[in-house]
Amino acid sequence: MKKTLLFFCVVLLLTNYNGYAQRKCGIVQVKNALIAKDANWQNKIEAQRSSLQSMADNYLQQKASGAAKTTAASPIPVIFHIVVTADQLTQMGGYTGVQTRCDSQIAVLNCDFNRENSDSTIIPSGWKPLYASVGIRFGLAHTQPNGWSTPGYEVIIISNSDNGFMPGSDGYYSDVKHTAKGGIDAWDVTKYLNVWCFNFADGGNLGLTLAKSMASGATANEEGISLTWLALGKQTIAGDLKFPSGGKFIRGRTLTHEMGHFFEIWHTWGDDFGKCAWNGGVDDGIADTPPEADHKYGIPTDTIPGGTIYDDCILNGTAPMQPIGVASLDFMNYTDDVAMAMFTTQQAAAMAAHVAPSGESYSLTQNPGLLNWPANAGVAPVGMDNGLNIFPNPSDGIFNITFNDITDELKNINVVDVVGQQVQSIIPVHAQKDYSIDLSGMSKGIYFVRCNFASGSITRKILLQ
Ligand SMILES: [Zn+2]
Repeated sequence: MKKTLLFFCVVLLLTNYNGYAQRKCGIVQVKNALIAKDANWQNKIEAQRSSLQSMADNYLQQKASGAAKTTAASPIPVIFHIVVTADQLTQMGGYTGVQTRCDSQIAVLNCDFNRENSDSTIIPSGWKPLYASVGIRFGLAHTQPNGWSTPGYEVIIISNSDNGFMPGSDGYYSDVKHTAKGGIDAWDVTKYLNVWCFNFADGGNLGLTLAKSMASGATANEEGISLTWLALGKQTIAGDLKFPSGGKFIRGRTLTHEMGHFFEIWHTWGDDFGKCAWNGGVDDGIADTPPEADHKYGIPTDTIPGGTIYDDCILNGTAPMQPIGVASLDFMNYTDDVAMAMFTTQQAAAMAAHVAPSGESYSLTQNPGLLNWPANAGVAPVGMDNGLNIFPNPSDGIFNITFNDITDELKNINVVDVVGQQVQSIIPVHAQKDYSIDLSGMSKGIYFVRCNFASGSITRKILLQ
């Protein structure tokens, strides 16, 4: 049966985050791009989808017999590559906002993937038995591939005249994943889960994922998740950080949804333009997500006692197929952040199979050391006080900072005013000894430069005159 399609015409002002009227993800865009390159991808993707259920069943059998671990060995190190304009960085709340967003985003992922989300109270009784833990945990990377420290994110500022990144000839914004093309290269994809945050210059997508099975050969270093810059993190206090469309995507679920694609599960409705599986449509390959015609937007009003809502796939012949409704509250639907709260048992099992010892993402769970700040080597950083110079001081605008030693423990350099308000922050570049602070245009007076290291900090007073 063919469902009535609703066509939404959303006029997007390209730099206007209010343009996101509802969720849209680029997984179909990726799929189409792969098929355009090589027609065999059609069969590969269909084979992958039809193998999902047996993959989940096998995992659950192994788990029941004790042969499979119920949780990953260690959290997966996540690195956020943030490629934004100076104006966009300001809208994100500056470096402090970026840190807050990254911290809250990791917390959201850990709750959502481990059945710990406090808003699970919205799950109706009919769905409660399916509310599942994937058992995968995540953490901010604190050691870079070369052994240097990292806060778990890196920020590259692009020109304000740039409006982010277009899909490009490959169709999935790969330029942002290459330093040589104005983005940031991936970190070792066998050890880190790479997330790029930037503006999708063609508008519309909140996120887009290139899963491991989709990336190989020349594109191997492009695997990972692309996220629109303003969907990063969770709003913890009303209005504390800006998010698309104000309230729709404020709980960090865009990355939860994309992470589902990273672990190779699909949208619950199968992306088949409104069809049912028994009538020419495609299912999501997962048995415990009921047949579903098309995506659900917004915050659906549940109409089934103990369940959610029906849609056009309610009947196959005369057999009711949706006794508890469709999976509108599933993380792999298109509802608003506040309306989604769970993965199902078999979605969880299909994803967990990827981090089991024979799974494609197993290696990501085997590097707990990357979650730690690097151990101090040689002299403790705070002991390097004498090796740090700031000049000229006083200055009428530019202050130069030079570290006389390799500052591999340096996490950031923050400048605060006399009332403790942060006015500038610098993320160190590994092996770089020289930095400058530009306070031109700031009020004259005393400021403090705080150099934060893994084991302590050094604060110096400077005078702007
Ligand atoms: Zn999606």
